[in-house]
Amino acid sequence: MNDNRRYVIVGNGFAGTTCAEQLRKADSSCSIALFTDEPYTLYNRIALPPLLRKQVTEAKVIMRDLAWHEKHAIDLHLSTRVERIDATEKVAYANGTGYPFDALLVATGGRPNPSLSPGVAGAYNVFNFQYMDDTKAISRQLEESKVAVAIGGSFIAYELAEAFASRGVETHWLLRGPRFLRRMLDEIAGEMVDDAARIDGVHVHYGEELDHAVRSNGVVTKVVTSSGIEIPCDCLGVGLGLTINTELLDGTGIEIRTGIVCDDRLETNIKGIYAGGDAAEFYDPTAEMFYRMGTWNNAGAHGKVAAINMAGGDERYHDVPEYSSKLFTDQTITQFGISPEYRPDLDLVRKIDREKKHYRGLFFWKNRLAGVVMIGKGNRAGKRKYVDAIKSKQAFTPDQWEAMLDWTAD
Ligand SMILES: Cc1cc2nc3c(=O)[nH]c(=O)nc-3n(C[C@H](O)[C@H](O)[C@H](O)COP(=O)(O)OP(=O)(O)OC[C@H]3O[C@@H](n4cnc5c(N)ncnc54)[C@H](O)[C@@H]3O)c2cc1C
Repeated sequence: MNDNRRYVIVGNGFAGTTCAEQLRKADSSCSIALFTDEPYTLYNRIALPPLLRKQVTEAKVIMRDLAWHEKHAIDLHLSTRVERIDATEKVAYANGTGYPFDALLVATGGRPNPSLSPGVAGAYNVFNFQYMDDTKAISRQLEESKVAVAIGGSFIAYELAEAFASRGVETHWLLRGPRFLRRMLDEIAGEMVDDAARIDGVHVHYGEELDHAVRSNGVVTKVVTSSGIEIPCDCLGVGLGLTINTELLDGTGIEIRTGIVCDDRLETNIKGIYAGGDAAEFYDPTAEMFYRMGTWNNAGAHGKVAAINMAGGDERYHDVPEYSSKLFTDQTITQFGISPEYRPDLDLVRKIDREKKHYRGLFFWKNRLAGVVMIGKGNRAGKRKYVDAIKSKQAFTPDQWEAMLDWTAD
């Protein structure tokens, strides 16, 4: 491309840093300004749970150091918040300085929602779990903690509960719904996760919300649930979802729904301004819908596609999002494509082996495979075939669906 193209990227998570890396590969003479309001170079956010469980060190979690940015001539601005974008003049503003751009990526992710229950705000022993600094603060608290409570039905609440238990702290987990991931998992899948939680000694309280916290000298000493259960505790973890960071786009005319709306090239309704990662509500041509996807692989894939298009290419996002995670020490979950969380009108076929602790659910939409959930160690056979089937948009008749549960060849 042109020698002097100027790129600005807001957010140095996996989406933003991948984008910077790809831009530099494609164009050795462009300028790249990369901003983050955190004090860290790119770190592996999905390795924060193992860091909290003390299974890896902080050094292992950091993925790129300052020297890497210097070597690739990426102008990294740590602890610098981009406050405003002028979409007409194409300038990003941070600390009163304007950074002009030819193309901009907004990969600002989301910030965790606080608990609004009385007694919680401002207490020293209440934590969200999104950033490296959260992880360090929770870890310090767990050194002295005896009883910890996690609230929420999300993956983050699960990660908190698992970490509390793995650090040897008595753990209570409050979920508003009847099971974990209630919009994705059916009753039996929920029971299998519940079994795994209990094996790790976690006390799971379904249908319970935090009513209020009792505190003394600025710390929470007890939580009281919606049905009146009282749990004395010294650590409270909050996993109540994210608010997407879009304020910097106020007044630009860029469309915001559940996230920053963009097409399958990741370009917003304003030419030259792109969105990616957790912050993007993007168009998935396979599922034929817009949605937001908060997964690591998705963030990296967005960073790559956005970079190609920012540099003048024409690349379409055509990936099947995937999420894999441990579920306590006894279980694992792999989910790819979409689930009823995204589109409620899906047909489900499933295969369950309670002895092996395996669950496999296939979701169909318009007779096409749309998504898969696999629970159970060693229960990932056939994954590649499923992903290809989702991508191909091939139609399967309902009498073929059951047989697909036994796909094994990778
Ligand atoms: C504890 C935890 C465990 C997870 N586990 C998994 C997992 O097992 N598998 C999986 O697939 N996904 C997992 N995820 C989700 C995954 O980490 C995210 O989907 C992914 O990291 C999103 O990357 P991103 O680049 O879009 O945004 P982020 O990583 O959120 O980066 C955005 C950055 O932009 C900064 N920023 C925001 N606004 C501004 C501004 N105005 N100016 C400057 N900087 C700004 C933010 O502070 C942040 O540093 C996990 C997430 C967490 C928190």
